[in-house]
Amino acid sequence: MRGATTVIQGLTVSLGERRLVGPLDLELKGGGVLGVVGESGSGKTLTLRALAGIVPEGLHALGGGVPGSALVFQDPGSYFNPRWRIGRSLQEVLHVVRRVPVSQTESAISSLLNDVELENDDAELFPFEMSGGMLQRAAIAMALATEPQLLLADEATSALDPLTRDRILTLLCRVAREREIPAVVVSHDLESLSSVADGIVVLYNGIAIEEGQGSLVVATPRHRYLELLLKSRPCRETAGRVLPEIPRGESETSQGCPFAPRCPNADGRCRTEMPRWAGSSSHRFRCHHPAEPQ
Ligand code: SF4
Repeated sequence: MRGATTVIQGLTVSLGERRLVGPLDLELKGGGVLGVVGESGSGKTLTLRALAGIVPEGLHALGGGVPGSALVFQDPGSYFNPRWRIGRSLQEVLHVVRRVPVSQTESAISSLLNDVELENDDAELFPFEMSGGMLQRAAIAMALATEPQLLLADEATSALDPLTRDRILTLLCRVAREREIPAVVVSHDLESLSSVADGIVVLYNGIAIEEGQGSLVVATPRHRYLELLLKSRPCRETAGRVLPEIPRGESETSQGCPFAPRCPNADGRCRTEMPRWAGSSSHRFRCHHPAEPQ
């Protein structure tokens, strides 16, 4: 339903007795874009797949499976039949998913292409004739062709150059807002995502450790993991400097803060007691010894 808010409570993904994600509570607002960030293995992709109801075989998900979800993947080439022109692929989705008669798909295809800033003539191209950015736009058009209730993007921009990446992120957010559908965008790129998303959730070891308005989260990280992550990233301000490394170590999977084995600020309490949420509704975090806002 357009403009509606979908509340997800207690989303979990497990492998046997081992919890890989969650429990996560997410509020997905119609037309709002939620960015999910974290390092590899933090559970971002599993979270997205659980929301779509397509976790890999052998895993068990609870609390997701939002009907009418459409996923945009990192590799847009995998969507398309390489022997079909892009227009034919869009036509197939419109016909099979939305029951649009083939004879009436032309204007819908044109409208979808224009929505993702492609030309009508691009419908005649084969996937191999498109650049990575064009193909990702076409993949977004494919997702929109299903008239999704929830738009999910999994590292959809990570294979693109920085300029194209920012344009595609902006495009994803625009189409979600124009259609008043909620979108969840997963990315490694915290800064780009925080500048376009309405809210950010930072995952560590499958658990949300900090969340809020993107600009607040990036400007004043409070959880020690996020503080270190932001300090260790290469950027213009840190050019020429030796960057601090996040200490290695196994994440905690039972009680206590999952970052405790790697955290320079950890104490006995961190190892035995999971921190509760603190902060405000616009920016909250789970850390016993949070970083002071700079
Ligand atoms: S709760 Fe403790 S271990 Fe976890 S990030 Fe905060 S200070 Fe570090």
